[in-house]
Amino acid sequence: MTLLRVRNLRVSFATGDGTVNAVNGVDLDVEAGQSLAVVGESGSGKSQLMLAVMGLLARNGTAAGSVELESVELLGLDERELNRIRSRRIAMVFQDPMTALNPYLRVADQMTEGLVLHLGMARREALAESVRLLDAMEVPDARRQIAMYPHEFSGGMRQRVLIAMALSCRPRLLIADEPTTALDVTVQSRIMRILAEARAELGTAVVLVTHDVGIVAGGCEHMVVLYGGQVMESGPVDRVFAAPYHPYTEGLLNAVPRLDRDDSRLPSIPGDPPDMNRPPAGCPFAARCPRAVDRCRHELPGLLSRAPDRRVACHLPLDGPA
Ligand code: SF4
Repeated sequence: MTLLRVRNLRVSFATGDGTVNAVNGVDLDVEAGQSLAVVGESGSGKSQLMLAVMGLLARNGTAAGSVELESVELLGLDERELNRIRSRRIAMVFQDPMTALNPYLRVADQMTEGLVLHLGMARREALAESVRLLDAMEVPDARRQIAMYPHEFSGGMRQRVLIAMALSCRPRLLIADEPTTALDVTVQSRIMRILAEARAELGTAVVLVTHDVGIVAGGCEHMVVLYGGQVMESGPVDRVFAAPYHPYTEGLLNAVPRLDRDDSRLPSIPGDPPDMNRPPAGCPFAARCPRAVDRCRHELPGLLSRAPDRRVACHLPLDGPA
């Protein structure tokens, strides 16, 4: 069953330099219980896409198109209705746990608030549930630590608190935006394992937003690659990793360290992402693409089905002409 259905989503921002088109006609489906990675470099539009889904764009941002959660259109809902849906049905974990947590409130107060407000629990019951959730997140001595302030936790522990809070109302969909950035590799893999366990236990679908393709393998079933605010490629993770169709996806995968080759000099993708104030007329990746031909610079490639469950937007995909 399709849980989240995004169609032709466009996100723009009014700035002093004109309109910035951050997301340009994205289609995306998340099935119930699925794990989906939304991958792209910084500036690819992935975070703004998810903020638009949550109804959390900055004041100068506008979203158009359609975002349906369990067949309910979210774009255009008022703040009161959106608040009811957020936490109960859809929750988000942000990249920087320090700014997402209130530094002046003990973790216990922040964790119990949602349970009291949204699930109608008594404070005592909410506290016991919060301790249980922190235990499940492998926060040691949770009963004692829950009485502490956020600054007394390490970065990895704060991230676990945020994930516990996000899962506390058992949402149908959890969006995790760069949840492991700035954490060391051991903590990264623990956070990924915790997310996978939560998905298995609660049946919550997880959308992982990341610039780090390396954490996608083994952590997600399906992936969508964004560039210039558009979907470049989508498909099951194992098949995209084995044989990407899009030159941008290939570039991202080549930059992931691997044990089966000499990675002393990992190739990066030369050049910079497009200026979204003045998006190019043709393929957004043309200025950096080693396969670009004249057609690419003038004609925007459509996102076409290439194989069952796989789509690519490229005039010259890697497995042969479009
Ligand atoms: Fe490269 Fe052209 Fe494909 Fe764009 S359409 S990715 S420029 S080959």
